[in-house]
Amino acid sequence: MPLILIAMLVLVTAASAQHPVEGKSAYHDAFFLDPHLREAVMPMHPPALVSTAFPHKELQERIDVISYDIKLDWYYALTTPSVLRGQRKATGHVHARIRSMVNGLDTLVLDAIALTVDSVFVGGERVPFSGSVTVLRIPLPVAVAADDTIDVDVHYAIRTSDRAFYAFSQEDANQLSLPHPIAFTFNEPEDARRWLPCHDVPSDKALFTVDVRVPAGLTVVSNGTPQRTLSDGDTASWQSWHHPLPMPTYLFAVNASDYVSYDQVYRRMFGGEVPIYNYHWGMDDNGVFFNARNALRNIPRMFEAFEDKYGEYPFPTYGHVTVAPIQFGGMEHQSMSTINRRWLMGDVETGYAHELAHQWFGDMVTCETWGDIWLNEGGASFSEAVWLGFSEGPEGYRRLLADRRNVYMRNGLAEPPVYDIPMATLFNEATTYCKSGWVYHMMRRMVGDNAFFPAIRIYLQRHRLSTAQTADLLETMQGRIPSAVVPWETFFDQWLVKAGHPVFVADAVQNWLADGQYVTIVTVAQTQQADNVPNPFIVPLTIRLYGQGQTKDTTVLMSTSNFQVDIASAFVIDSVQLDPDDDLLCEKTVNTVSSVEGDDAVATATLRLTGSHPVEHGMPAQFVVEGAAVTLQVVDAMGRQVFAHDAVPGIVTVPTSTMVPGLYVARLVSSKSEPVSTVTFIVR
Ligand SMILES: [Zn+2]
Repeated sequence: MPLILIAMLVLVTAASAQHPVEGKSAYHDAFFLDPHLREAVMPMHPPALVSTAFPHKELQERIDVISYDIKLDWYYALTTPSVLRGQRKATGHVHARIRSMVNGLDTLVLDAIALTVDSVFVGGERVPFSGSVTVLRIPLPVAVAADDTIDVDVHYAIRTSDRAFYAFSQEDANQLSLPHPIAFTFNEPEDARRWLPCHDVPSDKALFTVDVRVPAGLTVVSNGTPQRTLSDGDTASWQSWHHPLPMPTYLFAVNASDYVSYDQVYRRMFGGEVPIYNYHWGMDDNGVFFNARNALRNIPRMFEAFEDKYGEYPFPTYGHVTVAPIQFGGMEHQSMSTINRRWLMGDVETGYAHELAHQWFGDMVTCETWGDIWLNEGGASFSEAVWLGFSEGPEGYRRLLADRRNVYMRNGLAEPPVYDIPMATLFNEATTYCKSGWVYHMMRRMVGDNAFFPAIRIYLQRHRLSTAQTADLLETMQGRIPSAVVPWETFFDQWLVKAGHPVFVADAVQNWLADGQYVTIVTVAQTQQADNVPNPFIVPLTIRLYGQGQTKDTTVLMSTSNFQVDIASAFVIDSVQLDPDDDLLCEKTVNTVSSVEGDDAVATATLRLTGSHPVEHGMPAQFVVEGAAVTLQVVDAMGRQVFAHDAVPGIVTVPTSTMVPGLYVARLVSSKSEPVSTVTFIVR
């Protein structure tokens, strides 16, 4: 069977709009609907490929903080002249109730960096203490038994800095072209200890109340809701806030400036509502350049999108507080996200979606260790796509993921693993955000929406108002979706503990089987080679054939580095695409697509005469051949062949000098000598 090379195609991460991304059924459903593939797919879980055990980390914490009651005096930090900025101080008093997690706790160690500690009290009694640069060490008068609690008071002072605690007086603000004085904190991951003696780990959630003294005219904003305001003479006030549910130190924040508030509300279709309190500068409320009302207009709809997927919003209230100047975009402080003033320009809607989604992924369920940060950031990054899927449809979902993939692919195989990323690169955009978001997307696509979202909701509920490790998500997935086509341990191991992604290279050759039936042999290789990068990745891979206006999808479980699959079709292919719906974080190249000459191809071949007609004797007759055929023949009125030529697509010239004037027929014929396109012409 002669092969005609139809096309050399290079499809690198090509997009396709053939099917919507959302709502696709699970892969294993697709497998078992196609009996021809059953054999290729079974056994689905080659035992040798399953890693032994995913690491579950044992924490060695000695204390559990139950509550922090904090008093801060920010008055001087907000009023000291700029020239004395280096001398600027704030004072604090924290009262913490702490539970011992060990028997015989004899020394309390709190995280505290560069704090000037004035005095410490345990159970109301003043006690000696010692400190290093990074911790405050408090010998306890009496050793504390496991589960017993102690009350500790620490009085301290801090200098403002450009890290963790930021303060700008009116004079500073003028120099920075900002309208008002402002002070705010920014703790993640381990900076709370720079302004608050605390147990600064994400695994320890506590209740927070804060009372702050600020110059008159400024409004304090923190997590939860405002409690009371007390005037302190004409020049200052004390303002307190409280959040009713526990949070880790990194999600706690305090802000103060000359804020106005703009309130929204999210009303659930079936009752219940969430008030949304937004704080920003008055000139930005409905301004031309910064416009909070415009930038925030879709927040209630984001609640709708996320409650639909993740279950009820976990806190009684939500809100945004705007700060500047700051290098960050936004931060998901529990129930009160901090946003950069820049976001009020209204062009980073996915940023708002990201911080709101963190209220489920990060705040309601907090990464238990920083090595699990991908649970937070992957969930929030994935949710940006979920929001665009809700507001714009499947193309929006897909576009966002494509953007994230492109960021990751800049370094791709050279990026470190997602899991247990070092603190120094904790917020590595390519992995902690982009690849992690794709891991959620790939879980979704592997098992389908009807399995994925219920499992995610169960995971979130199981660890609600608590913490989770990566192993906890793995356990939920294993329990809820035990028959996933790729075993969950393998999935988590290859995508999280190991680095990289599959690099697919494919070739496709089509052969003619019988009338109207073809088989395409697709050979796929995984070619990734790099340190700590698996080869093979074990993945369900969809192969899509295109041709004659038709498509055919075939999904196979690729569990070896090289793989071949025979795909039957009723049409002649002109191209092949791997992973056409972008289900996998991968690179994909189809090198060659070779298609057979078959009668369907010939049936679409056409012939037409070009130039003047009738053809003058002695002048060449020119024909245009389109499509695949074998031979161009010319016969006279008696049926005798007077000319034959290979029917390659293009122009074929037929000399007429040896033909007698009269009627002729030009025809394209197939390999079976059947005419498929004819043109009658006259030579005169
Ligand atoms: Zn985030």
